[in-house]
Amino acid sequence: MTWRISHRARAIKPSPTISVAEKAMNLKRQGVNVLNFGVGEPDFSTPEYIKNAGHQAITDNFTRYTATKGIPELREAICEKLLNENGLTYNPEDILVSPGAKASIFQILMTICDPRDEVLIPSPYWVSYTSQVEMADAFPVLMPTRESRDIHSFKIKPEQLEDTIQNCSNPKALILNSPNNPTGTVYRREQLEGIAEVCLKHNLLIISDEIYEKLIYDGREHISIASLSPEMQEQTVVINGVSKAYSMTGWRLGYAAGPKEIMTRAARIQSHLSSSVCSIAQKAAVAALTQDDGSVENMRIEFDKRRKYMVEGLNKIRNITCYMPKGAFYCMPNVSFYLFNNKKGINSTVELCEYLLDKYHLALVPGQAFGALVYVRFSYAASMENITEGLKRFEEGLLSLNK
Ligand code: PMP
Ligand code: GLU
Repeated sequence: MTWRISHRARAIKPSPTISVAEKAMNLKRQGVNVLNFGVGEPDFSTPEYIKNAGHQAITDNFTRYTATKGIPELREAICEKLLNENGLTYNPEDILVSPGAKASIFQILMTICDPRDEVLIPSPYWVSYTSQVEMADAFPVLMPTRESRDIHSFKIKPEQLEDTIQNCSNPKALILNSPNNPTGTVYRREQLEGIAEVCLKHNLLIISDEIYEKLIYDGREHISIASLSPEMQEQTVVINGVSKAYSMTGWRLGYAAGPKEIMTRAARIQSHLSSSVCSIAQKAAVAALTQDDGSVENMRIEFDKRRKYMVEGLNKIRNITCYMPKGAFYCMPNVSFYLFNNKKGINSTVELCEYLLDKYHLALVPGQAFGALVYVRFSYAASMENITEGLKRFEEGLLSLNK
């Protein structure tokens, strides 16, 4: 029996980040010594104080459905966090806790997009943005950015945004992600001010994905675009979560904060999907946001060491250049030299990553997945030992292309 699959499902490709992770896990299960730099998730354990709160929730039988938007205690803790760390004042009613920031973004898109609306996305972009926009029956409009040696590396500029809007029919929203996955770029205040001005002029909603806010280096500061002015806050939905900062990817908890009307309607959508987030994860997230045993900063310091080590190692490989990321835990070496000069007939990053996985047991994500055609993405959420070995295999793999 063949089923007539919906146009929506037919248009959706599997998430390349998740596919690489699954491939690497399968090989590992078969006993292959795979080095996985594919999926972006911290390799640390969830801090003890957070796990304890989860255990306590189970002991206390806190195991039932909760309010759709999230338990009041958690939404209050989120409001406190947004006020103290981002200078943003929200009412707990305007917070929606969802099963991961991924779900938060999708529900906001489902709330605001009509068929054929356009959602603007700087490219390279995180893989799920474009697919989620398509699932909401809207069009992703990519705004290419370039690597450069100055402060504009991998960033959109106000003039580019203005031009893109002029060429759109129904521009609805801009998805901004700083610190950025996959490039590691971090927008500065004055750069965000320029973007905010254009968005205000055109009533473009900003979905500001700030999930990597705590993973930021070289003394850079995370600025939420919503905090630039009350008008900007009214035009922004802030997305954040506990996955990356607290090493809680498997607990599945993210949140959105934004204008009342959007949040109320997004909560209605969630009430028909997941209802609430796992009650135990919510209690653990309260602990994550209200206590601190220093582990978040320790993880950041460790990521910083690995970042420098990995990027310096990559730049030592012949004909490879790699931008030093300022945030998140990814780096993207430019592999164009090898793509265009090899005897193996490899001419795309997908083919290159397949080759490196098959022959060198090195799992990377092809830049093509992010709209970055001549790059591959490494996640440096890996041990120093694995990074050292990974760099060695990467170099050997690249040099073998011409043997
Ligand atoms: N945004 C970005 C840019 C990400 O890299 C991720 C990682 N999966 C997410 C959102 C979603 O995170 P989660 O669903 O685990 O909260
Ligand atoms: N955000 C991470 C990544 O880009 C995790 C995987 C995913 O959710 O796509 O690898």
